Amino acid sequence: PRGGEIQIEDLDKHSKTSYPLCMRFLHEALRASHHLRHNGRLQYGLFLKGIGVTLQDAMRFWRDEFTRIMDVDKFEKEHAYNVRYNYGQEGKRTNYTPYSCMKIICSTPGAGEYHGCPFKHSDSKILVNKLQAYGISTSYIAEISELVKGNHYQVACGKYFQSIHGGKTSSGIQHPNQFFEESQVALGN
Ligand code: SF4
Repeated sequence: PRGGEIQIEDLDKHSKTSYPLCMRFLHEALRASHHLRHNGRLQYGLFLKGIGVTLQDAMRFWRDEFTRIMDVDKFEKEHAYNVRYNYGQEGKRTNYTPYSCMKIICSTPGAGEYHGCPFKHSDSKILVNKLQAYGISTSYIAEISELVKGNHYQVACGKYFQSIHGGKTSSGIQHPNQFFEESQVALGN
């Protein structure tokens, strides 16, 4: 989709139908705690830019969540800069690229952090519980678990894609934004 076509009001829906797990986990953690640590904000913020969320909408999205637990002044002082930075509007004015699977899989999330790739970084029981809660069928969960055991994280991600798209396959997941785009095509959006 071209910039601006993705509305932030629809992100809850998209997170269920078109996000890869790495972004779904971040979105849910943000909604639940109204906060994400630095690396999570980067991983998710750049993904949002990549799917076409405008800077203005991104600012509104992060401000609405963060100001549930902090006042607007603190948000403006400590976080608004980083949102603009993601869009190349601060600092070196680099137009930062959303992270690829390789980069995300190689990250090292610590306690209390939700970035990274769930297939690589989540405890296997927690992953299975999440997939069950999302309504993924037992046979898909079994296939995904086997792939994760063999360290085939991106193949497992492709299986997850298939499970939420009525069996339609992806072309091979290399990038969370590619997952999203192929999902939108599969859903006919
Ligand atoms: Fe995200 Fe890539 Fe991991 Fe899928 S394989 S959850 S897109 S990092």
